[in-house]
Amino acid sequence: MPVGPHTQHLVVGAGLAGCLLAWRLHRAGARVRLIGSTALPAAYRVAAGVINPVTGRWMTKSWNFDTLRPIAETTYRAIEASLGTRVFHPIPEIRFCQNADDRKRLGRRLRNPRYADVLGRELAPGEASPLFQDADGAFEIRSAAYVDLPKLVGGLQQYFRQEGVFENSVFRHDALQAHGGHWNYQGIEADSVIFCEGASLRDNPWFDWIGMRPAKGETLLCRSPGLSLPHTLFHHKKWVLPYLNGQFRIGATYDEDDLSEETTETGRTALLDAVQTALCQTHPIEVIHHLAGIRPSTADSRPVLGPHPTLDGLFLLNGLGSKGATTGPAMAHQLSDHLLSGAPLDPEVDLRRFL
Ligand SMILES: Cc1cc2nc3c(=O)[nH]c(=O)nc-3n(C[C@H](O)[C@H](O)[C@H](O)COP(=O)(O)OP(=O)(O)OC[C@H]3O[C@@H](n4cnc5c(N)ncnc54)[C@H](O)[C@@H]3O)c2cc1C
Repeated sequence: MPVGPHTQHLVVGAGLAGCLLAWRLHRAGARVRLIGSTALPAAYRVAAGVINPVTGRWMTKSWNFDTLRPIAETTYRAIEASLGTRVFHPIPEIRFCQNADDRKRLGRRLRNPRYADVLGRELAPGEASPLFQDADGAFEIRSAAYVDLPKLVGGLQQYFRQEGVFENSVFRHDALQAHGGHWNYQGIEADSVIFCEGASLRDNPWFDWIGMRPAKGETLLCRSPGLSLPHTLFHHKKWVLPYLNGQFRIGATYDEDDLSEETTETGRTALLDAVQTALCQTHPIEVIHHLAGIRPSTADSRPVLGPHPTLDGLFLLNGLGSKGATTGPAMAHQLSDHLLSGAPLDPEVDLRRFL
């Protein structure tokens, strides 16, 4: 049912963070409006949506993984049930060691009980896959998954459109005004305005002081008729994510200097070269889509959320960085609980750490 001009929560930015937050608030019975432009760039359209328990060069367990992963799965499953579509896909993962140091590190992780639920078998050279080079061996990673982020976000936008509460337009910050204890935006009166603008946070006049460290990334959606990949996420220097329709995605580049949204020949070559080098045989690979986007990362690689320090009614949800599929649902829960019942925020993600 379309809502009137007064709303409790006006969510700005209909990407991963904004849609998850609007979903949570809406499910709790709050009156929500969502404004976002599908014509502007967005990270969720570029991302593979991988939920990866063990990440980075040091092969460490992803931040707060044991807490975040169950909340993520429960949330995606609930959205799937409501939208009647599938977006959450558990997938086996194999990571290849790159050198002897990696093997030593792996040995330490395997002896560490904290890793018992996410590490599987250590695989000797030749054991992991006949398709990939694995002179230094490999290992299995458990609890990995990928979330079809374009389908998830597109499905939620459509849901809110049908509810009459989604407006597909560019939000103009200069049109938001404080008025009688509320915020007024083009005739909409809101108790709170929550900014979920991803990397566009730099253009937000109220939160541009947050310590962001955005990073550009490029991915390639590919097919190769002669290359028959099992449904396993392979992580060599780059990752290869095979889909059920035979296509696969290669990702991702990482660049903190070039923050343009354009794809580059350098990025495409780096991704294709990395995969051809990782494969035992060269395969012709056709690129179907080449995408680029900006990860909204913070200086300390943690999400950032909470109320504006001086302006009542303005809030932020951002900093999902390169792990939005894992962190997004729990961060949306945390901020919605804060908005609805004043629940305290975890200091590790509270935006006051940047004051
Ligand atoms: C190459 C690449 C690979 C990635 N791979 C993964 C991965 O495998 N796993 C993972 O978990 N994460 C991955 N990510 C990160 C993931 O995409 C982000 O964590 C997530 O999308 C962040 O969500 P967000 O809503 O904050 O930002 P976004 O998804 O960018 O959404 C923000 C939205 O707000 C809109 N907006 C901004 N300003 C305005 C305005 N003024 N008016 C209207 N709309 C506005 C934008 O257009 C956009 O739609 C990857 C990112 C990149 C770039």
